[in-house]
Amino acid sequence: MPRVSDVAVVGAGIIGLSAAYRLVRQGLSVTVYDVGRPGHGQSAGQSRIFRHAHDDRRLVDLAVRARHHWDVWSDEFGIPLISPDGAVMLGDAVPRRRGLLERAGVTVVPLDAQGLREVMPVLADYQGEAMLDVDGGSIDTRSAIAGLSGRLSGTFVHEEVLAAHSDGDTVTIRTPTTVGEHGAAVVCAGRGTAPLARGLGVAIPVRLGAHVRVSFAVRDSNLRLPTLQDGSGHFGADAVYAAGYPDRSAYGLGIADDIDAHDDGTLDDATRLGELADAAGRYVATALPGLDPTPRDIVHCWVTTLPWGDDGVALWRTGPVVAVAGHNMFKHAPVIGEALAETVVAGRVPSGFAPEDRLGGVADKA
Ligand SMILES: Cc1cc2nc3c(=O)[nH]c(=O)nc-3n(C[C@H](O)[C@H](O)[C@H](O)COP(=O)(O)OP(=O)(O)OC[C@H]3O[C@@H](n4cnc5c(N)ncnc54)[C@H](O)[C@@H]3O)c2cc1C
Repeated sequence: MPRVSDVAVVGAGIIGLSAAYRLVRQGLSVTVYDVGRPGHGQSAGQSRIFRHAHDDRRLVDLAVRARHHWDVWSDEFGIPLISPDGAVMLGDAVPRRRGLLERAGVTVVPLDAQGLREVMPVLADYQGEAMLDVDGGSIDTRSAIAGLSGRLSGTFVHEEVLAAHSDGDTVTIRTPTTVGEHGAAVVCAGRGTAPLARGLGVAIPVRLGAHVRVSFAVRDSNLRLPTLQDGSGHFGADAVYAAGYPDRSAYGLGIADDIDAHDDGTLDDATRLGELADAAGRYVATALPGLDPTPRDIVHCWVTTLPWGDDGVALWRTGPVVAVAGHNMFKHAPVIGEALAETVVAGRVPSGFAPEDRLGGVADKA
């Protein structure tokens, strides 16, 4: 069988595109397989939070590196990919996380009620712990996906990968109408990663959940619109996240919760998605007077979570195949792509990314 390309990349979400771009930049030829258009899976919808704050110090360090890569991509694609408005965090975790950020050299500003009002005028009055991660912000997800896809044009096969098989030296990828041989494969298929890895003898302990995020129109798009992580409980919901659209016209907001799904994607109680969407609307009505609480857009999506934490991520390697799984990976996509490419080129998973490292699962004390 003739070799199609050096590396098959399965999945054209932000992680697959990032890995493929890195591999191409290193002089390797790639084929990117995706059953749909790039960025339609977990990477769907406009905006994600770029934040440095994590409980695991290693993720803070990776975020610092990723931030630099986002700036490089912004220059290359000719569009700012992270908004200049910063990332606001509310709640009792603020002092601990602020300590970790300061130790990592991240610029962070503690906010009193007045400071918060200035930084985040769309928010209702709040008196508790708050901080601003100055170099955080909203990721312009659509421009990132478009920019990377544009650099990879001519490499896409728009078909479902039914199976990946390796004889130890090469990888054969089978789709409904193609069979391709590659020197290596990177599996970053989101929800599809665990089943493909299982076929290669690798068990990835990922939990599948269903999630919903709702967008609300901003009443005054001239106002500063930082991202929000609210763990305070002050406005009636325990954990809420939100990120603004690049033109500040809307705020994508979700209750940080998802609904258990079976491996085949069935849900025992799909009505809970509606309840989470309603809870997002109630939160907006209470906490964010600067928004119109009528839902504007909705994103339903799968989330894949590793057992050691909501921000957990890991790479599994078997022969010439490497697979990645985790959640909340958008902000780290440039460095995860780099780690995947390094695994292909060096034949080993970079330090810190192996499953036993439990990246994202260790809470550091400040
Ligand atoms: C609503 C929401 C909000 C989020 N907020 C944040 C945030 O604020 N900050 C953050 O950093 N992260 C956030 N995340 C997480 C982040 O979006 C994901 O971790 C990231 O997008 C995952 O990208 P991916 O490339 O791994 O997966 P995906 O984007 O799912 O890409 C996988 C691709 O593989 C393709 N595929 C699957 N199986 C096959 C197959 N057999 N054959 C061919 N193609 C296949 C799919 O079609 C898909 O395009 C959020 C996620 C959601 C859903």
